[in-house]
Amino acid sequence: MALIELNKVKKTYYIGGQIPVQALQEVTLTIEAGEFVAIMGPSGSGKSTLLAILGLLDRPDSGSYQLLGKEVSHLSEQETSCLRNRLLGFVFQSFNLLPRLDIVTNTMLPFLYCQGASVAERAEAQALLKRVGLGDRLHHRPNQLSGGQQQRVALARALANKPLIIMADEPTGNLDSRSAREIIDLFKEINEQGNTIIMVTHEADLASQASRIISLSDGRIVSDQRVKEQAAGRTAELPQFKPRNLNLFSLGRLANYFNEAYLSLLTNKLRSFLSILGVVIGVGAVIAMLAIGFGAQRQVEKSLAALGTNLLSVRTAPRQQGISLGADSVTRFTLEDLNALKTLEGIKAVVPYVQGRGQVVYLNRNWNTQIYGTSTDYPLVRDATPTSGRFFTETEDHMRSKVAVIGVEVAKQLFPDENPVGKWIKINRVSFQVVGVLPEKGARGFQNADDQIILPLSTAMHRLLGRDYINYFDIQAQSAEDLSGIQEAVSPLLVKLHRLPPSQADIFDVRNMADIQKAASETVNTFSFLLGAIAAVSLLVGGIGIMNIMLVMVMERTHEIGLRKALGAENGDILTQFLVEAVLVCVLGGVIGIGVGALISFLISFFAGWTVLITGRSILLAFSFSVLVGVVFGLWPARRASRLLPIEALRYE
Ligand code: ADP
Ligand code: MG
Repeated sequence: MALIELNKVKKTYYIGGQIPVQALQEVTLTIEAGEFVAIMGPSGSGKSTLLAILGLLDRPDSGSYQLLGKEVSHLSEQETSCLRNRLLGFVFQSFNLLPRLDIVTNTMLPFLYCQGASVAERAEAQALLKRVGLGDRLHHRPNQLSGGQQQRVALARALANKPLIIMADEPTGNLDSRSAREIIDLFKEINEQGNTIIMVTHEADLASQASRIISLSDGRIVSDQRVKEQAAGRTAELPQFKPRNLNLFSLGRLANYFNEAYLSLLTNKLRSFLSILGVVIGVGAVIAMLAIGFGAQRQVEKSLAALGTNLLSVRTAPRQQGISLGADSVTRFTLEDLNALKTLEGIKAVVPYVQGRGQVVYLNRNWNTQIYGTSTDYPLVRDATPTSGRFFTETEDHMRSKVAVIGVEVAKQLFPDENPVGKWIKINRVSFQVVGVLPEKGARGFQNADDQIILPLSTAMHRLLGRDYINYFDIQAQSAEDLSGIQEAVSPLLVKLHRLPPSQADIFDVRNMADIQKAASETVNTFSFLLGAIAAVSLLVGGIGIMNIMLVMVMERTHEIGLRKALGAENGDILTQFLVEAVLVCVLGGVIGIGVGALISFLISFFAGWTVLITGRSILLAFSFSVLVGVVFGLWPARRASRLLPIEALRYE
């Protein structure tokens, strides 16, 4: 059985898809194990085309190709990858070494695509490099070597998987005559050890070193001479093709992809930086926006919880526009209303409020704040028992005593380093004694429960604000079940008390705080969702940036893809490699972005005083979103890369 048998193999190219070029016309050829074949002929005679078909890098249009007795011209892409990896070794005119990797790693490339070989066969690669005379250069990278030395590395790589046949297309075309001679001597040595060699060359004196010289012209064999005794060649069974395990499940292989992706990112530092920056901005924005959104949500929940539970608020509705109700119809709450409301069923407490602003002075410190007059039920209903000092008493309310309970913000402003309890302050020029400090509520924004002063109702009405009416009430029900009954009873009661016509019942605005709370948190939810969506758009833009850069990378590395395929990489290998690279960019960007987002959130809370909240959920969301961006936007360029035909990829300049 012959090693190789071609029968009437034809290959026609179409220039621009139309003009046919017959690169090979019915080539019939038999090559035995152990031969050293030189293929000669003028430029354009079809030498490279023939070698590509022999090397399973290209398919003939018609004719048969038998390798070790088996027809191989119709095998699947995966099967030819496997055969290239196991049986064939390639040496190209332009050495096709990967500049990022040291020469040992370059030599190990075929192992990466070989089922069963462990990726860590460094020793074997080192031995091969010693065999081609580079034992003292193991840590060099290709660009640190001369052309002749680089071609030796390529030869070592071709030998890595112990192939039967070495295919070389003008291996000495880029070398000076001395290096060329050394390479040919190495070929001869390898041939004598049993490898079959098929070499394209146009230099007659190099061809004369071979055992057989085949000349091509216009796609036909015009002469075929045996010039020397052929060596005793090795032969083998055709390897059985087994589909490889999924790439991802081989840890060694995956580690290798990550290492290569990392090296490739290092090679193009600026470009990698820019694509990572895109993801960093996206993820950072997602984290910061979600932190603001969740923080606002937490804030609303907290400030509403600070209002107390089972609460109704009773106010007079703002006058409807266009309806003049006349001066005498101004409806204001009175102490009678307070007493009447207290008689309703299911009531726990009714808290009246008068409201005003006041200029507060202590020594040389000034502060303008909200003043409330209220009853002794306030601490109970608002869950606001003073943390230091005490609340005012019923008696003090009756006596119109000039005592004040102040919020923590007021305490901070007037008494930065003293205990306020017992001190005398002036509110609108009236002296008050501070008896207590309210607990911190942390509520900010429209109603700051920390920036206020609470006075006894009658003191505030008659001694400070000069009022004979109450602004509004809070009603606390004994339980949630009592709430709706009370809510319905309030308006009719007040209408009766004020002798209003029933049509004016809507003057009174009775609201359940829980409803307000719900409405507020819904608004905040919408708001945080919107923020998140805006941030997601920036991540999307980052993803498109990555896709763009990946496409450029695929283009730039087309040659490399061709080489990897020649060495036995399947489509899946190439796909995984580019995908790993895209995902690595996104993972790096994601991790940095989380840090940046956290920093931004911190700065916002520090300088703007907003509550921000970074949750595990938002970190997970941002991170998985960025990985998803890597996969989705990396997939298309990676697929494009993986589908390139090996010969076309190799020919790409
Ligand atoms: P050689 O290696 O002997 O110089 P090739 O085998 O590369 O020649 O090419 C044989 C012929 O086929 C040439 O005329 C070349 O122009 C043509 N050819 C090779 N590859 C292509 C291609 N991809 N598209 C069109 N024509 C091609
Ligand atoms: Mg050629």
